[in-house]
Amino acid sequence: MLNYTPTPIQEIHDDRLRAAGVSVFVKREDLNHATVSGNKWWKLKYNLVEAGRTGCTTLLTFGGAYSNHIYATAAAARELNYKSIGIIRGEEVLPRNTVLKFAEDQGMELHFVRRDEYRRKSSPEMLADLKARFGAFYLIPEGGSNAFALVGISEFGTLLGTDFDFLCCPIGTGATMAGLIQTFRGTKQILGFTVLKGDEWGEEIEKYNPGYSNWTVIKDYHGGGYAKMPPQFRLFTEEFSKKHFPVENVYSGKLFFGIFDLVCKGYFPMGSKILAVHTGGIHRPERSFERQLNMTLP
Ligand SMILES: *Cc1c(COP(=O)(O)O)cnc(C)c1O
Repeated sequence: MLNYTPTPIQEIHDDRLRAAGVSVFVKREDLNHATVSGNKWWKLKYNLVEAGRTGCTTLLTFGGAYSNHIYATAAAARELNYKSIGIIRGEEVLPRNTVLKFAEDQGMELHFVRRDEYRRKSSPEMLADLKARFGAFYLIPEGGSNAFALVGISEFGTLLGTDFDFLCCPIGTGATMAGLIQTFRGTKQILGFTVLKGDEWGEEIEKYNPGYSNWTVIKDYHGGGYAKMPPQFRLFTEEFSKKHFPVENVYSGKLFFGIFDLVCKGYFPMGSKILAVHTGGIHRPERSFERQLNMTLP
């Protein structure tokens, strides 16, 4: 199994939270592994068990050129001696960005496919093509999101205890939130902050979790869409990272921006205990706020 470092729950001390009479704690799951970090560790856990069970020696997965999932899968494959193949959306990136360079350094074989082709990635024809080309492999879907991912995330949820009222996490594909909803089986209020524009994510989660209604998808903090970061978000993320701990712009920055904004708007009753999950993903120096700031501000 992958190495795992136990992670702390840490309180965020901030005047805005004190003024609103709420407390915010963070499960620092970003610290669970140097390279297979955050929720990706848990989403991969039972996929790796299943790959081992089926005797596959190659992992094949999909992602964009900046995908944390590609990064994590490449590192996990290296640690556990799997071959790995990454099917990357879009034109070949040259020179390689940090994520793709890292993946290749871990031994992942990269294949770039046109966007229209990539959209058909789970079609039987495409899978047959991939089998013909690469031989037998264990397939992990985009973002690592499948039933095995949910099992891993809901196991992670049991490490969160029960000493809180609201549980907050970012939403990409929604598998992380869906797994957490399963852990708590109708107890607690679970808030997911979507980082993508669009309404489809609530339905995704619904599909995984019939029956529970104690969850809400917050759609006000995607900042214009995936990897889009309006200036006020970037400033928040920079300030927050300096004052507390590093967060990146794509997921956690939007999550904490959203939590703070909701706190200031009085969304949470006085005395609420909020627990946020730091889902990781802070390994991309060329996209970090500091670099962007240097490029865009005098
Ligand atoms: C992939 C990722 C997410 C999104 O998780 P989903 O299960 O797809 O919703 C959130 N945060 C970070 C840091 C990620 O890398």
